[in-house]
Amino acid sequence: PPELSGDFGTIMQWADEIRTLKIRTNADNPRDAKQAVDFGAEGIGLCRTEHMFFEEERIPAVRRMILADSEEERREALSFLLPYQKSDFKGIYEAMGDRPVTIRLLDPPLHEFLPHTDEEIKQLSAQINVPYEKLAKKTEELHEFNPMLGHRGCRLAVTYPEIAEMQAEAIIMAAIEVRKEQGLDIVPEIMIPLVGLKKELADVKATVVQTVEKVMEREGVKFDYLIGTMIEIPRAALTADEIAEEAEFFSFGTNDLTQMTFGFSRDDTGQIIREYRDKGIFDDDPFQSIDQVGVGQLVKMAVEKGKATRPNIKLGICGEHGGDPKSIEFCHNIGLQYVSCSPFRVPIARLAAAQAAVKAEK
Ligand code: PEP
Ligand code: MG
Repeated sequence: PPELSGDFGTIMQWADEIRTLKIRTNADNPRDAKQAVDFGAEGIGLCRTEHMFFEEERIPAVRRMILADSEEERREALSFLLPYQKSDFKGIYEAMGDRPVTIRLLDPPLHEFLPHTDEEIKQLSAQINVPYEKLAKKTEELHEFNPMLGHRGCRLAVTYPEIAEMQAEAIIMAAIEVRKEQGLDIVPEIMIPLVGLKKELADVKATVVQTVEKVMEREGVKFDYLIGTMIEIPRAALTADEIAEEAEFFSFGTNDLTQMTFGFSRDDTGQIIREYRDKGIFDDDPFQSIDQVGVGQLVKMAVEKGKATRPNIKLGICGEHGGDPKSIEFCHNIGLQYVSCSPFRVPIARLAAAQAAVKAEK
């Protein structure tokens, strides 16, 4: 890759000859995707779709979608959002060429999409022409005391399947266009987040499959696609044999898995972690480096259970730990096929993966 030339480039080339772990990246826009490819990324392991919904011209429609009173209203807002999503995914596919891309269905803590003040509700009311009282009531109804344990991930798609339908349509339409325009053999990987139960995965998967099949038939095309899930709730790891019946791949979301296994908030525990490190209670920050005896044990168990049900299941990690050398060694040893990390950690991940392979051979 152009960014890594000279002696450093040579070392990286040696690393690539030795490592068996693939290195993917977490990217949700073409610029980051290209940057990661320049650093040697071999695919996208996690394309989060939340940020896309925060673009200024989309926010009113997004709020209308979330605060809608009926499916019909929601569908109206979603049909406005569909072309934007299609172009988001086209941009990502184009940036990645024929490398694999895993796109995750919407996974926001819902409160991020809600208006926060009375003023915002008033503004929105004028903007989208919906009475203030109606919006205020709905905002109140959707309020949660603990959004990170609430209406997130696949739960959103269970209650509002239309959102998953719109995203699945955009993912497939974008693939169809890029296949036609660029002759690339794109096989979309659709990832369902925050799954804890086989039945909720099956529910959302059915929505996605129906949509994909309908779109392919309408467009007169047929090509492969994969549907998989994040493993990021302890229950999903514990029941990974059941979950694998519905999933062609697992991607370990170790940010949430660490949060839920430790019962420490991933968003505001910096102070406690420093305290624990100073007192020698933690050797490492578990949000940076996989806690191998706790969280790691869940990951390892899920790998074994997943493989027992589906021997050729694809396995990767996309939590922050995917860019941490110690964690990468662990991922190599338990038999993951790829790690996915932020673009700037890709070179380190390539080296760490090579080091892990050398160590394991000794
Ligand atoms: C995770 O939980 O590890 C993950 C990758 O998802 P997010 O950080 O978007 O919750
Ligand atoms: Mg997560």
